[in-house]
Amino acid sequence: MICQPVRSPESTYEELRIQKHLLPVKLTAHYESILDQEKSALGTLSGPLYRAMMPTMEKMTLVGPGEHPDFVSDRSQMPKGSSGCFLHKYADRVLFLPTHRCLAHCMYCFRQDLLEQEKSKEEQILQKNIQELENYLLAHPEVHEVILSGGDPLMLSPKALDEIFSRYTRIPHISRFRIHTRAPIFDPRALTENHLKVLIQHKVRIILHCIHPYELVPELCEKLMAAQRQGAKLYNHFPLLRGVNDHPLVLFKLLEQCDQIGVRPLSVYFPEPVLHSAVYRIAFKRIQKIVSELQQNSPSWIHGLRFCQDTPYGKLQLHEVVKLDAEKCLVIYQRKQQLIEVPDFPEHLDRPGELENLLWKN
Ligand code: SF4
Repeated sequence: MICQPVRSPESTYEELRIQKHLLPVKLTAHYESILDQEKSALGTLSGPLYRAMMPTMEKMTLVGPGEHPDFVSDRSQMPKGSSGCFLHKYADRVLFLPTHRCLAHCMYCFRQDLLEQEKSKEEQILQKNIQELENYLLAHPEVHEVILSGGDPLMLSPKALDEIFSRYTRIPHISRFRIHTRAPIFDPRALTENHLKVLIQHKVRIILHCIHPYELVPELCEKLMAAQRQGAKLYNHFPLLRGVNDHPLVLFKLLEQCDQIGVRPLSVYFPEPVLHSAVYRIAFKRIQKIVSELQQNSPSWIHGLRFCQDTPYGKLQLHEVVKLDAEKCLVIYQRKQQLIEVPDFPEHLDRPGELENLLWKN
């Protein structure tokens, strides 16, 4: 009898990701040590952070309704004739994508089809992209805010960030800047003193994407508290992910810990149905239950937290849901006079994360 070697989820994933243009596995040594701790405490690979950052069999095999590689239709928000380095989705703000690189890769990423690895090519086109957006901003006085996303803007040097903010700040109608980053979570050293100097100097709001309280290790907390003391404005905006943080107590602990270190809650978004996202998706009825339990059992500063779903029509909020169509598996939102249908996730596939697993340290 010939025995087939047992394949690890990583090697199975490698084939799939090439076929479907998914992100390769990428971790920092810092994050790997967090995963090692989780693995040895649980004795399995079922921990919340492993699930967020590593390919599991469930990610590779489970398919949910309505999956699409570009569900929020990022590409249609790129102005005609542009190179695709920015999106103009909301009248008063543009989203600049100055880099397509991240320090590590999240398996739940909804922009994976836009990310790539080549730093050298990126450096060549950065100047061109900065200029292209500058021209656009000059011609669009209705834009007041530039948001840097990506990829992760902290992959850029402080010098490059300074150039971006200095140039756009000279445009009279541009008054606000934001960056969205997960880099300090992957490695607290990614937020260098020089990065911080630039961000504080240009009054840039730093929006972290911290998904779980165990990502807030002491080294990171100290760094963020020091940044706050120096004048940095810090926020957290993160996805609600099945098996990672899909319990009111996990959310409460994350929000409370953020509050203690001066990181304000901004919003929580529901995972978009991109390819191979079913492993993270949650039935809408359960989302409503999680949010209501969180609000019933938490102080009032948590109640203002925005829960939303990004769609091709913009970010729709929980209170805009008017109907759940169980038969067609749809969530129906109403914005002004328009009804907007978004794929729900079937209740029978929605296996909630178990609290003793999600909060194994507690
Ligand atoms: S850091 Fe953000 S953009 Fe980068 S892989 Fe993770 S979710 Fe995607």
